[in-house]
Amino acid sequence: MSIAGKLGVAGAAEEADLLGLSAIQIFAKSPRSWKTRSLKPGEVEGFRARKENLGGLPSVIHASYLVNLAAEGELWEKSVFSLADDLAKAQALGIEYVVVHPGSGPAEKARAGALRARELAGLGKNGPWLLLENTAGGGEKLGASLHTLAELIEGTPLGVCFDTCHAFAAGYRLPEALDELEKSVGLHRVPVIHLNDSVGERGSQIDHHANLMEGQIGDELKNFVLDPRLEDKIFIMETPRGTLEDAHNLRVLRGWLGIA
Ligand SMILES: [Zn+2]
Repeated sequence: MSIAGKLGVAGAAEEADLLGLSAIQIFAKSPRSWKTRSLKPGEVEGFRARKENLGGLPSVIHASYLVNLAAEGELWEKSVFSLADDLAKAQALGIEYVVVHPGSGPAEKARAGALRARELAGLGKNGPWLLLENTAGGGEKLGASLHTLAELIEGTPLGVCFDTCHAFAAGYRLPEALDELEKSVGLHRVPVIHLNDSVGERGSQIDHHANLMEGQIGDELKNFVLDPRLEDKIFIMETPRGTLEDAHNLRVLRGWLGIA
């Protein structure tokens, strides 16, 4: 959901209501710039009130695409600071989850970066849950292997956000990915699913999301959504936005769920 309108973050909740959604994801600032954005007067109250009216509306902030928690030097510092800013905003807004890609470089560095961001944000016990997302891989990108991602968060309070497009592009069959996720991460540590079809073939390492059933994944995607192990999960679509696209993706998803 966009926060570009005059209501800011509260506008995202408004749009969710219009579309009949039961969860949302936002960027709390431009995802392709280091510039931060401060919350406007009334924005926090406006969002919290709408969220409550919509039955709680579980919400996610996606961190900036520039963030690389596994980088060295200044890039690492900026990344940690940017993520801490998102965590602090989530805390202020009552947003439950913040999702970030682990970055490119040593896994140890990524883990330290994520933990440092939590520390800088001064998260309390009831603060947002920081989730590392699996990736499509390529180069030194962390998170393509679910096993490695599990090792990265072991012994930390971090969780995982699972993206269907990324897993497929990283070479997984979705049923196998889900088994692996259950075995090595534990599904109790995976509260959020990114539900996207994939433009690239399985194993292509192409991170390009497609509308549901218009990409390469096929029926595996429907079977994944309907897996009883994922009944209590929050599903977020990061599919191309537009009136027609939204209508298509929601129609497909609601059809699968039998709530069309
Ligand atoms: Zn995603």
